Amino acid sequence: MQGVIDYTHGISAVDSLLLRPLQSAVHVVVEQGRAAIIDTAASHCVPRVLDALAAKGVPPEHVDWIVLTHIHLDHAGGAGEFMRRCPNARLTVHPLGARHMVDPAKLIDGTIGVYGEAETRRMYGDILPVPAERIETAQDGGSIRLAGRELSFYDAPGHARHHVVVRDSASGHIFAGDAFGLSYRELDVDGRQFAFPTTTPVHFDPPALHRSVDRMLALEPKAIYVMHFGRVDQPQRMAADLHRLIDEHVRIALEHRQAGAGRHQRLKDGLQSLVLAEARRQGWRLSPERLLAVFREDFEVNAQGLGVWLDTQRA
Ligand SMILES: [Zn+2]
Repeated sequence: MQGVIDYTHGISAVDSLLLRPLQSAVHVVVEQGRAAIIDTAASHCVPRVLDALAAKGVPPEHVDWIVLTHIHLDHAGGAGEFMRRCPNARLTVHPLGARHMVDPAKLIDGTIGVYGEAETRRMYGDILPVPAERIETAQDGGSIRLAGRELSFYDAPGHARHHVVVRDSASGHIFAGDAFGLSYRELDVDGRQFAFPTTTPVHFDPPALHRSVDRMLALEPKAIYVMHFGRVDQPQRMAADLHRLIDEHVRIALEHRQAGAGRHQRLKDGLQSLVLAEARRQGWRLSPERLLAVFREDFEVNAQGLGVWLDTQRA
């Protein structure tokens, strides 16, 4: 099926086509005909993922788990629809996120705050609640089993307080949600991959994010899967870039802290300069126009996240 990337160990990425191709990956793990789905994209992406599983011989009844790394709607918006379509699935989510899956009203309001009402409705459509009795909280150090294969949870705040990363015992790989940044495949150069932090409102916490990156590295994964987009297999080098770029985000935020009404635009401009500088540093081959288009939504969302962080620093 087009838009499905099969990796090793029964792990695949299904391109959700949420915003554009190669922007949001829904990962699936298949073990002995049973499946776990890791992060969901939006409700309208659910049929694509179920079609991809059907092509692997896995019917919706054999989806055992919907695993959420965190509850930002690009990760969790389709969860209720998956639960409706997969009658035997249970859902795992960070303890701080569980009640928002049962009653998504606040989550929807928060997303409208970031993207505006029209864009939120266009991107996410219907967001269905998840029945409380089908939710299991993903406690730090806890785990679930998919046909005997263990998936373990590690608290990973910094991008969001309600964030866990998931380690797969069979491969030793990690599903990192947004905690290992963005890694768009368009930026790859001769097989080298790159990461860039994502600081979506409202929980950006630089020291916590540094620690979460180090916590993942300490597990010595050979590969990490990020929602945006897919598998990366050079975690050590990418983590060094992430640490440096998290610090650059903080520097940009502090530089424009006093900018008043113009602050948001200054933050966006600062992030744009950071991406262009990174392109020169890393030898990214996209034209500046194409590069700025790839990161366009990230400039907006990262700048908002830095603004919220600055406001909390002042309090
Ligand atoms: Zn996120």
